[in-house]
Amino acid sequence: MKILESKADAREMVRQWRSASQKIGLVPTMGYFHQGHLSLMEECKRHADRVIVSIFVNPTQFAPNEDLASYPRDLDRDKKLAETQGIDALFIPRDDQIYAPEHKTWVVVEDLSNGLCGKSRPTHFRGVATIVTKLFNIIQPDVAVFGQKDFQQLQIIRRMVRDLDLPIRILGCPIVREPDGLAMSSRNAYLTEEQRPSALCLYQALQLADRLVREEGVESCSQIQTRLRQKIESFPFTRIDYIFTGDPDTLKPLEQVERPLLVALAVFVGTTRLIDNILI
Ligand code: AMP
Repeated sequence: MKILESKADAREMVRQWRSASQKIGLVPTMGYFHQGHLSLMEECKRHADRVIVSIFVNPTQFAPNEDLASYPRDLDRDKKLAETQGIDALFIPRDDQIYAPEHKTWVVVEDLSNGLCGKSRPTHFRGVATIVTKLFNIIQPDVAVFGQKDFQQLQIIRRMVRDLDLPIRILGCPIVREPDGLAMSSRNAYLTEEQRPSALCLYQALQLADRLVREEGVESCSQIQTRLRQKIESFPFTRIDYIFTGDPDTLKPLEQVERPLLVALAVFVGTTRLIDNILI
């Protein structure tokens, strides 16, 4: 497995693959791999001859008060995991490889970026869309794989690729969970032993939403929201950022249930902000 630390090296590697008519897959990540990341790599291997995984903790998607400095990192472990996964190359650029000192150009996907996580993180998706565009331009993959765990991010990238005519197939992968249902996330490492049981509030609330719609036939989204709020608030250490019930394509909230319904949550457990979602 090749370790590529500069854009020039990454471009050269990809050029060689392409000249051998190989199909190239990209999995963008911020590292600190868990089974969710590995499932994306597996899926990518099914659709490409060569798989390149990027590890870059992208500063422009963090607000000044967020966890950029403390974001968990373990490159040695990530390299071993990627190697056992049969990945062809890891692209691990330094910040100065990616952002020039006077970086002034942004990719903004309007509307889709405003609700859900965009409300409390107003510059987050501008950072995401910009770094993903830059990675797409450096690697020029045929396919790129993202997780449904970050459902809004996936929809924003799909829209961006369509709107900007980027010749890249975007694949979405299902959420990988711990045995008790907690969605895997690098940020789960922040949870204390005391807080960990409360992190289950997201999965349990989503399961409740599923029952309310499928089994009890609840049709009012505000009724669903009230029940989810009660459920989440029954766990200690929790503070709700948002409960979203709406259309999975437009990401607009709905008053009455229409299927498929996206239920998405962001909840602080202690100081750790966790997200999760379900399509019903
Ligand atoms: P991150 O390193 O957290 O930026 O995530 C990199 C990619 O992995 C993104 O496309 C995420 O949506 C995806 N991902 C993160 N957690 C999970 C999970 N539990 N299941 C599936 N995909 C995930």
